[in-house]
Amino acid sequence: MVSNLNLKKIVVLGTGGTIAGTAASAADNIGYTAAQVGVAQLLAAVPGLPALLAGRDLVSEQVAQVDSKDMSFAIWGALAQRVSAHLAAPDVQAVVITHGTDTLEETAYFLQAVLPAAQINAKPVVLTAAMRPASSSAPDGPQNLLDAVAVALAPGAQGVVAVCAGSIHAALDVQKSHTYRIDAFNSGDAGPLGYVEEAELRLLRNWPVALTNKARVAIENIAFKAHWPRVEIVMNHAGGSSAVVDALLLPLPGVTPLRGLVVAATGNGTIHVDLEAALRRAQAQGVHVVRASRCANGRVLPAANAEFAHSAGLSPVKARIALMLALMAESPDAKKA
Ligand code: ASP
Repeated sequence: MVSNLNLKKIVVLGTGGTIAGTAASAADNIGYTAAQVGVAQLLAAVPGLPALLAGRDLVSEQVAQVDSKDMSFAIWGALAQRVSAHLAAPDVQAVVITHGTDTLEETAYFLQAVLPAAQINAKPVVLTAAMRPASSSAPDGPQNLLDAVAVALAPGAQGVVAVCAGSIHAALDVQKSHTYRIDAFNSGDAGPLGYVEEAELRLLRNWPVALTNKARVAIENIAFKAHWPRVEIVMNHAGGSSAVVDALLLPLPGVTPLRGLVVAATGNGTIHVDLEAALRRAQAQGVHVVRASRCANGRVLPAANAEFAHSAGLSPVKARIALMLALMAESPDAKKA
């Protein structure tokens, strides 16, 4: 597209996912291979996009091409670095990211936690995805992309959000809640941030603000030299035992020693007595233990005499990211944002 620096620019970063997936048959919505179609080609297949952009530039960049079940720290580092570089440009209005649905909530939380407040309190980062491959006879990707760009263009939009099936979700709250349906995301108790209806936004809540209470590590640290601390998730369940935690504490050749454990605890943070004993042993050895809940809704309410920290309302996967970033920030060579 012709560049015109007087106009604001929308940047779309591709990372793969089902939205870029293809199957042998247009009738096949599950037997596909994710991450096959480039982001520029996906954008070219969105009817109505030029009209919505109304003369603004659209720039695309392929940051990765993966099924998001295989999302890696290296891709996160590169993505954070590219998003931040684009947001810093005065002519960029917003960044849209195409992503797989499986770990979208983790990438969204990661970006909300690491991007500089000055950037995400001024411009939006909009993740979008699809449940059906690009080759489907009725793909959901093109509409989701169009909706994501509508959100990116909205006056006052800021923070990291996800757009899928006409709903806008904040990074902090969004979770994949369905394995198959096109409307696969929800925001739990918080509810969606709003809806996109024929490119018009109906907002229900305020735009997200940066997580200023979190210790942040500079993007270049994460992108180029971060050693991600090893934090694992264990789940509480009937017949729980100490075996998994004890095994995780054993040194393994070539495996970074365990620094943290997030427990996907039952209910309001309850833990089987045998698992709890193992967690106590882990904590005594210097491993950080955080209690989240395996319940899809609600939060672990802080108890005055609780032995283990709680996740401050974060789901187990997001609590793991928060703990990794906090441990990274503690490291002596971590450059702070
Ligand atoms: N496995 C795919 C992914 O997360 C699923 C999807 O995008 O819907 O990349």
